[in-house]
Amino acid sequence: MNETDARKILCDACSKLYLKDLLVSAGGNVSIRTDDGFLITPSGRNKGSLFPEDMVKMSMAGKVVGKGKPSIEYKFHLSLYNLRTDTNAIVHCHPIYCTALAVKSEKLRTDLTPEGVILLGDVPMVPYCTPGSDDLVREIERTYRSSAAILENHGAVTQGKTMEEACNRMEELEFQAHLNLVVGNVEGLSKEEVSRLRRM
Ligand code: 13P
Ligand code: ZN
Repeated sequence: MNETDARKILCDACSKLYLKDLLVSAGGNVSIRTDDGFLITPSGRNKGSLFPEDMVKMSMAGKVVGKGKPSIEYKFHLSLYNLRTDTNAIVHCHPIYCTALAVKSEKLRTDLTPEGVILLGDVPMVPYCTPGSDDLVREIERTYRSSAAILENHGAVTQGKTMEEACNRMEELEFQAHLNLVVGNVEGLSKEEVSRLRRM
């Protein structure tokens, strides 16, 4: 995708995620792959009030191209783009229900409704590591095949072929986290139905 379009899509996604209370205060970061690297949100800013020109351009060598201070998490975004050639957008947020499960170290169940199975699949819990650290990059790399993960005592990450898919997954992840916390210990869909949905 060309840089001009990517800047606008990234900016619109941040506004939508912020309005849905998925991005909170200055937390979280979002990125999008471009023809020659990727664009990522600037560090420490409120991601709900950014402009297209605020997005920081980075090369696939992890260097800033032009100006701006990239998210402290740029290394895990870069790593996921390298590991997943089919990933074109990454969303990291601290939504309240995902974060509640994250601080309880409680694995999210996605077998309660069809959307959980279809959009998310298995959602691993990434062990706590300091934000921005190489340890966090290594732990996230272990779960690169998953479309979504919960970061212990921190938040959540989703990836997708498009920005819309990555954002849908974050919205669905937060819905499923809320559902998990509301229903408690219930029986989910049968194993047979989960297998059928996975094949869809
Ligand atoms: P940045 O503002 O540097 O992206 O940091 C926010 C965050 O969520 C770190 O995990
Ligand atoms: Zn974070």
